[in-house]
Amino acid sequence: MQSTNVLVVGGGPAGYVAALRTAQAGIATTLVERDNPGGTCLNIGCIPSKALIHAADEFYRLTEAGSSARLGIITTPPKLELARLNSWKQGIVSQLTGGVQALLKRAGVQVVKGDARVLDGKTVEVTPFGEEAAKPRRVVCQHLVLATGSVPAELPMLPFGARVISSTEALTPDELPATLIVIGAGYIGLELGMAYAKLGTRVTVVEAQDRILPAWDTTLTRPVQRRLQALGVELLLGTRVQGGEANAGTVQVKPESRQERTLQADKILVAVGRRPLATQAGIGGLMLDMQGPYIRVDEQCRTSMRNVWAIGDITGEPMLAHRAMAQAEVAAAVIAGRRRRFEPLAIPAVCYTDPEVAVAGLLPDEAKERFGDALVASFPFAGNGRALTLDAADGFVRVVARRDDHRIVGWQAVGPNVSELTAAFTQAIEMCARLEDIAGTIHAHPTLSEAVQEAALKALGQGLHG
Ligand code: FAD
Ligand code: NAD
Repeated sequence: MQSTNVLVVGGGPAGYVAALRTAQAGIATTLVERDNPGGTCLNIGCIPSKALIHAADEFYRLTEAGSSARLGIITTPPKLELARLNSWKQGIVSQLTGGVQALLKRAGVQVVKGDARVLDGKTVEVTPFGEEAAKPRRVVCQHLVLATGSVPAELPMLPFGARVISSTEALTPDELPATLIVIGAGYIGLELGMAYAKLGTRVTVVEAQDRILPAWDTTLTRPVQRRLQALGVELLLGTRVQGGEANAGTVQVKPESRQERTLQADKILVAVGRRPLATQAGIGGLMLDMQGPYIRVDEQCRTSMRNVWAIGDITGEPMLAHRAMAQAEVAAAVIAGRRRRFEPLAIPAVCYTDPEVAVAGLLPDEAKERFGDALVASFPFAGNGRALTLDAADGFVRVVARRDDHRIVGWQAVGPNVSELTAAFTQAIEMCARLEDIAGTIHAHPTLSEAVQEAALKALGQGLHG
């Protein structure tokens, strides 16, 4: 029997940040993780996916279909060495997970590599692996922080195996499939589907809804849809999967009001969402209050059981790494006796498609519903010098503000590297900036961020370049 003050189950962005913060506050902290630290995000999510996407962009730019020839750069067709690409990508993952491990050690967190099983709100049984492999042991704690994350959701009629893969396998291909069916045109389906298309795979995307990235409006996602078409990706929208055969690589799909059809490919990537591990590993036995498949938490990340906390993907949407880390900061601060609440005005979201899509705060329709009316203005990258010099002018920045006091409540953008605009977007919303604040701020020239200022000017009826 071992005892600790804080016991964190899961070492992803939620768990490792919580453990770091409680340990830094001088509280005895133990973290149990069955895999490498860093969780889904560092090992099989955010980081390796962005590395693969970057490599695919570079490769595509050098092919004839890419943009290099337009710029007068003539290359011999590039060749892809997947093994080298995979090892470069893995190097980044190792650097980051090694960094997290070092941070945990420096902060004095006791990290146990093993499987955790929750016995009650204060006791966890841990079966260690690796060097510590031993009999299961019990750890008792004052505070139990649940951060077990999520796993890819399976389609019951097309379970993972044989040719049916999840994002995890898609991130590290041994060989490039000539053909790929992607089920789901959400974050993963489009990010990875586009990357594969750029590497030379013939990609078909099947989406149940009538549009791609259905959480967002079609005006925002149209440039992405145009790019998918330019890349030769076949898009089957409003199409449901009826069944399939993993060994043969076939999928039966039923487009709305049309006949069922059978598709065949070397691989089938199922990207229809992620399933929270909110009841596994004995957590279900705690009988916590739930919200659908997620653990219900209050604004301090407390569950319905005293001194049991839940953070990250197990607590619901949006299932994003930066939200998980922000919740972890709050939970750790409250455990350390400080007054904190998780009440962000905006949680930014980025889809790393080509072009990228970035969203913070309310969409125009959401703002109109909330406030009865809203000021909405867009500035196109076609009118932005920097976007033209990057040869990537398809897209725009859009601002959403209250009509009564001009307070900015939302930003959206689609275009080159717009992920980097999310800091400005979120700061503006969190600091309750008004359109006049952004319109009156000097933005460097030539930068993509000038489109942010131009959108604010336009919303005030004072557009300069458009
Ligand atoms: P996780 O990262 O899933 O960590 C949970 C950890 O708990 C895991 O390491 C797991 O091994 C461990 N664990 C679970 N049960 C036990 C147990 N019983 N015993 C011991 N250990 C256990 N988000 C973004 O914000 N930006 C992105 O660009 C982005 N890209 C993504 C790309 C892909 C392909 C995927 C799959 C996800 C992506 N995400 C992205 C989502 C992001 O990875 C998650 O939101 C984030 O990792 C959630 O953090 P978490 O700590 O809640 O859970
Ligand atoms: P998602 O929720 O983003 O998209 C799933 C898509 O699959 C939806 O469009 C849905 O309509 C569709 N779908 C569901 N069932 C279907 C069916 N039977 N047939 C056809 N289409 C179907 O989920 P995801 O792409 O798997 O990603 C999971 C989560 O991981 C995301 O919600 C996000 O939280 C996180 N993630 C984030 C990033 C990022 O921040 N850049 C990248 C990847 C993943």
